[in-house]
Amino acid sequence: MAAFTSAHGSFCAKCGSSLGSDALACGHCGRLVYADQLDQIASRARQLAALGQLQLAREHWIAALRFLPESNERRGVQREIEKLEARLSPESAPVRESRLKAAAMPLLTKLIFPLSLLAFVGVYWSLLGWWFAVGITASVLLHEMGHYVTVRRYGFKADLPTFLPGLGAFVRWTGGNVDPGVRAMISLAGPLFGFLSGAIAYFVFRETGRQVWLAVAEFAGWLNLLNLTPVSIFDGGAAMSALGRQQRIAVLLFSLVFFFLLHDYLFLILAGGTLYRLSTRDAPPEPRQRIALYFILLAAANGLLSWYCSHQGYSFFSNL
Ligand SMILES: [Zn+2]
Repeated sequence: MAAFTSAHGSFCAKCGSSLGSDALACGHCGRLVYADQLDQIASRARQLAALGQLQLAREHWIAALRFLPESNERRGVQREIEKLEARLSPESAPVRESRLKAAAMPLLTKLIFPLSLLAFVGVYWSLLGWWFAVGITASVLLHEMGHYVTVRRYGFKADLPTFLPGLGAFVRWTGGNVDPGVRAMISLAGPLFGFLSGAIAYFVFRETGRQVWLAVAEFAGWLNLLNLTPVSIFDGGAAMSALGRQQRIAVLLFSLVFFFLLHDYLFLILAGGTLYRLSTRDAPPEPRQRIALYFILLAAANGLLSWYCSHQGYSFFSNL
């Protein structure tokens, strides 16, 4: 074995036998030559995995393989790598499950989007008519696609939206240990795209004169302002987690001023939610000034859209 033919090699730390220059284990007593380095790499890899840094943890384990001869330790490391790879790509995990389930699940996940979308249209169609249903569904879809494209832009996995008829919709996505600033950007992309959907609806109203589009624009502004309420189930909840105390006070003052200007009760709800979030003392270590500004601009834009549309002198709802 190489360990005994080395001309200038080192010696085993345990039994003192001479080691070959490329030996990974002592040929005499079996001690791993790089035992100390391997311990360090292994503990670092475990820490990284615990922190959710799966890709980095995997790279550490792969680096450890270079120092490991064929042994139980090597097979253990290979199992760690396989486990991390399964966690990194959830679709590859169901391989061990029954074939039927593995084939049916992706199909069901794909069907949730169109089927829930149709149910959503159906509910509003029966309540408020066909065009309003189409407009509102398109608006909610655009809001959700705002979340979806932002999640994807940050490199996380996301499913197409699931609609909850009469309630709303959501995008399911996965990402471990997401920075509060990134999370806020993902959350605020919904009300941003939602505002754009309302602006488009208003443009369609201006071009066609059909009141239903004015109603859709008003509803979009209202809904996306409501969504900025800074408590957990709304988009505003995650967004406010990136704001520090002073920035929350700024949002509070802004909402009160806008309530007195526009008399829209949603601003009072926004103020109440922000007051609550001042009491929870969950401000992040590095507050994001720009996100506070973005938050305020989105609330102002949606609030103004809804206010402006409601002052056009038409009422879609009273003519139903
Ligand atoms: Zn949203």
